[in-house]
Amino acid sequence: MSENYSLRCRECHREHGNRPSSICEDCMAPLEVHYNLDAVRGKFTRESISSRPANIWRYAELLPMPEGYNDGLPVGMTPLVPAARLGARIGSRRLLIKNDAVCFPTLSFKDRVVAMALAQARRFGFKTVSCSSTGNLANSVAAQAARHGFDAWIFIPADLEAAKIIGTQVYGARLTRISGNYDQVNRLCSQIADRYNWGFVNINLRPYYAEGSKTVGFEIAEQLGWRLPDNIVVPMAGGSLITKIQKAFNELIALGLVEAKIVKFFGAQATGCSPISDAVKCNKDEIDPQKPKTIARSLAIGNPADGLYAARAIAASGGWAADVSDPDIVTGIELLAATEGIFTETAGGVTVASAESLIAQGKIHPDEETVLCITGNGLKTTDVLADRFTLEEPIEPKLVAFEKFMGESVAVAAIA
Ligand SMILES: *Cc1c(COP(=O)(O)O)cnc(C)c1O
Ligand SMILES: [Zn+2]
Repeated sequence: MSENYSLRCRECHREHGNRPSSICEDCMAPLEVHYNLDAVRGKFTRESISSRPANIWRYAELLPMPEGYNDGLPVGMTPLVPAARLGARIGSRRLLIKNDAVCFPTLSFKDRVVAMALAQARRFGFKTVSCSSTGNLANSVAAQAARHGFDAWIFIPADLEAAKIIGTQVYGARLTRISGNYDQVNRLCSQIADRYNWGFVNINLRPYYAEGSKTVGFEIAEQLGWRLPDNIVVPMAGGSLITKIQKAFNELIALGLVEAKIVKFFGAQATGCSPISDAVKCNKDEIDPQKPKTIARSLAIGNPADGLYAARAIAASGGWAADVSDPDIVTGIELLAATEGIFTETAGGVTVASAESLIAQGKIHPDEETVLCITGNGLKTTDVLADRFTLEEPIEPKLVAFEKFMGESVAVAAIA
């Protein structure tokens, strides 16, 4: 094999080659994809990258790509936009938004991780792909499985948002709703993965899946003109995304594509499911599992697989964590929409509200460059806004009716 990557145990560093597995049998620690960076030097340069199509595959040398694999889907390269109006409202003078609410094809950052997992599912010869999901992963596995001709079995907690359920079924996936929370769904899926020869993107393909999250970090660095921001605020469920953005920045530094710099990582959770932010705030080197109770369903993982690594990554960077109430999540969604014209789902509300809290606490300085990761689309979680806006009675299609509707004083002012 001439591949420049393989699985390695995060704790004992034993090499495991490439295979569908996520745990080291020696020490039960998670496996992680490790690259031979020396083999990449010279090929992975600013110039070579910028000459390639604007999607995640332009970072191929630092992704687990099977030899000769060509996916063909232009996933990623979502906008990084300045957010001065939101910044003015929450107290940052240098705020940017990485907008994965418009990621292709299913409007969340999960499209990045699924693209990686399916590349390996193909390589390992799986005919059926599967996942346990809090919603967005279900959508993305179902869509990309359809596109690539895999059968898909998807497992979700029974009470997910309607749009995330329809947005899985429409692609022809077999959807199994489980009476229980995500952690129970995931435990069942581990048993199914042991018994059936299926590629579970977030279980036996998890190390490869996780590498897809690095592309958020690669893109931010490239979009900033090959440099790193001061701070980044990232929503956390299993805790994988935040650790992989940090891995991406470290790999870019190691290869000399960006100047070395310590980026402070800030984790965001809902107070109703905050095992990682609690660990950070209590300076604890362990995760106490929780029973989730929050409207932020996409982040409702009470026993996060990468929680401890996420907490450590945050602490080592000099960052911090915040968690916010359900009403604050809704306010965050509305604030982002009303200031920047970006409609995010509950996870994005968590990120905006957490950023506001971290700035108010003095953890994030107003003059430091801060990137907020908006990871999913608001059209999938409209349920939480149902009672926020009144629907007014329709009016006759007549000018007089409209002027009556708008009110005399408003009408007079508008004419003048
Ligand atoms: C899954 C998800 C996250 C968190 O990802 P982890 O890697 O599990 O921490 C954040 N935002 C959205 C919208 C998600 O679907
Ligand atoms: Zn090990």
